[in-house]
Amino acid sequence: MPIWIRGGTLVDVINGTFAEGDVLVDDDGKIAALGTFPAPESARILEAGGCAVLHGLINAHTHLSQTFMRGLGDDKKLLDWLKKVVWKLQAAMTPEDVYLATLLGLVENVSCGVVALTEHHKIVNSPAHSDAALRAYIEFGLPALFAYGWNDIGDGALCVDEIVTEMERLRAMANGTCVRVCVGPMVPWRCSDEAMARTFALAEDWDVPFHLHAAETQDEIALMIKRNGMRHIEWLASLGVLSKRTQVVHGVWLSDDEMRLLQKSSARLIHCPTSNMYLASGMARVSPLFWRGVPIALGADGSGSNNSQDMLELLKITALLAKIETMDAIALLPRHILHMACVEGAAAVGLTAPELTIGTEARLICVEIQTPRSAPVHNPFSALVYNASGADVRHVIVGNRIFVRDRAVQGIDVQALIAECTRAAKALLERAGIR
Ligand SMILES: [Zn+2]
Repeated sequence: MPIWIRGGTLVDVINGTFAEGDVLVDDDGKIAALGTFPAPESARILEAGGCAVLHGLINAHTHLSQTFMRGLGDDKKLLDWLKKVVWKLQAAMTPEDVYLATLLGLVENVSCGVVALTEHHKIVNSPAHSDAALRAYIEFGLPALFAYGWNDIGDGALCVDEIVTEMERLRAMANGTCVRVCVGPMVPWRCSDEAMARTFALAEDWDVPFHLHAAETQDEIALMIKRNGMRHIEWLASLGVLSKRTQVVHGVWLSDDEMRLLQKSSARLIHCPTSNMYLASGMARVSPLFWRGVPIALGADGSGSNNSQDMLELLKITALLAKIETMDAIALLPRHILHMACVEGAAAVGLTAPELTIGTEARLICVEIQTPRSAPVHNPFSALVYNASGADVRHVIVGNRIFVRDRAVQGIDVQALIAECTRAAKALLERAGIR
């Protein structure tokens, strides 16, 4: 049955325009009509009066297993945070913990207006752990990129043959679903040259992204310089693994030469400003990279270094941090920020461009902007970036499926899930000896 989104402000993120109107989504999940059209004979009606209606946000980097770690990593620097909190909890998680944490994270993402995301999967303790995370994504049904995180140096190292075999297994499991498996080295200083080259060749063979954390903190740059005399992006370029399929997550500490390397290679930057501020990692030079044409998408990062997945909140943080980084109030405007979150995000996860035109696949969100928090609205781009929060998301539609209706995630008993996750997280903390 079609979906009739009635009476909102249609926001075209690609063209930077907006107009009042309705949207009809057909049985195939495509936009069938826009603006003013006769009432369809039978349709599910979603009231969108007072809402901005737009293609939704893409969370281009997260770790949903960290949903159970919210608030536990407060007030720590990256390496301390990893050693004292994240690695301990990761080691103690059961496959059921991973499944529940991922499911709750997906509920949070979609209820905050996220219509697709990239999971950088970290809990590779056993195949059952990876299966649990992937199963949660497949069952939930949002389009997703599942980057298998691996390291072949240090604790939890796997040899490159094991890494490749496991990625092949997970790829077969995801075949024909909403999830696409890709390659996700964890951090440069825990990955060997050989494993990087071999897994990049696999990414080329499968035509999927090569998604990795890089240049996040100064300590990490020092570790790499000590190992081979190179900074992170220089090293990627020297190995021949810096290309348009490479997704550099963070890129906080880039030299001028490394910025040129990113530009030349057409690699993507995945900017995670909340996480960078939370861990005091630093400020990525996003505005100069944006104006040089480097494709930049936005990520919440895991809730261990953000505490939430609210991508609307993150839009404001992105805009404000860019102003401070450059000391320039017009460094990035609201439409540039939405371009990153929606257009570049869609490209990063491998989806079609979010055009507000007939025949385009619907991935729509309705965000209330006629609220005490946002009204009076003079420009919906400004209201979305500077005023709206995840709590303002009223409806979410992906394809022909309504994921969120009047703020309620459909098909899931959210209160029961929260209760189950609370019990499981308490038991996890006891096992890990954190509290
Ligand atoms: Zn991350």
